[in-house]
Amino acid sequence: MTAQILDGKALAKTVRAEVAEQAAELATRGITPGLAVVLVGDDPASQVYVRSKERAAAKVGVKTFDHRLPATTTQADLMALIDKLNADDEVDGILVQLPLPDGLDQEPVLDAISPAKDVDGLHPDNQGRLSQCRPRFIACTPKGCMRLIAQSGIDLSGKRAVVVGRSALVGKPIAMLLTNAHATVTVCHSRTTDIAEEVGRADVVIAAVGREKMIKGDWLKPGAVVIDVGINRNADGKLVGDVDFDSAVEVAGAITPVPGGVGPMTIASLLGNTVESARLRRG
Ligand code: NAP
Repeated sequence: MTAQILDGKALAKTVRAEVAEQAAELATRGITPGLAVVLVGDDPASQVYVRSKERAAAKVGVKTFDHRLPATTTQADLMALIDKLNADDEVDGILVQLPLPDGLDQEPVLDAISPAKDVDGLHPDNQGRLSQCRPRFIACTPKGCMRLIAQSGIDLSGKRAVVVGRSALVGKPIAMLLTNAHATVTVCHSRTTDIAEEVGRADVVIAAVGREKMIKGDWLKPGAVVIDVGINRNADGKLVGDVDFDSAVEVAGAITPVPGGVGPMTIASLLGNTVESARLRRG
């Protein structure tokens, strides 16, 4: 058996086209969705991420407001910028690129973003709403994963899902989304005693660990849908996931590649949330 490849690049293109259509509809009423992008410091990987988000935004009709700050920026200055962006009517979404440089505390910064402009879906208000089945903005990576699962054609109701990883950014919101979609969900983490056994029972596996090729093909239930969130750089400098793709593809029913799976869907979800915010706030 060889799994269906869930092509995140192609699906993200479809999502971006949908978002562009929604933005164009808003434009007919004089509304241009706006995304403020805040980058502090000069981390090269963050600069690449921010550039690709800004390029993708421009292509779908989302205007970006670029705020590049030096690594010496104080917590007070950063908080003042967030206040200013919260009050700016042209800004529908605020994205603070993480991680922040040493010396800056990320939690108060993310908490200060207005929940109505939290298009990254990381504010406790938005995560709390998700846990109560009344989401506003869903965190971008988990939202992209759900769209990829939908693409596999699986009906989640009554299925067993295993999420490996319990971060607030990925694992926990995915577990909530799967629960809300009526799956029976198990969350594994570094203290789980037998992850292979848990994974072996799952109809859907989400790997969000940050450990190169940790999940092996022979752990999987035949036919399982496998979503690999992990982005790891191997010894040769290549990007690899948390799943051992070569063995998993022989057992899974559907699987995302790395790169070209979850990553492109994350950016598409960010743009979708920004346009949705513009519609909610100004439409
Ligand atoms: P994180 O905050 O470091 O969380 C990792 C989780 O994995 C934690 O819950 C940790 O358990 C668990 N874990 C670590 N080692 C483990 C092990 N040996 N066995 C079982 N569980 C283990 O990472 P994250 O932000 O969730 O990101 C996870 C991965 O996804 C990373 O590779 C990251 O680069 C990638 N990512 C990709 C995208 C994308 O767009 N594709 C977006 C975000 C993140 P404890 O809680 O017990 O410590």
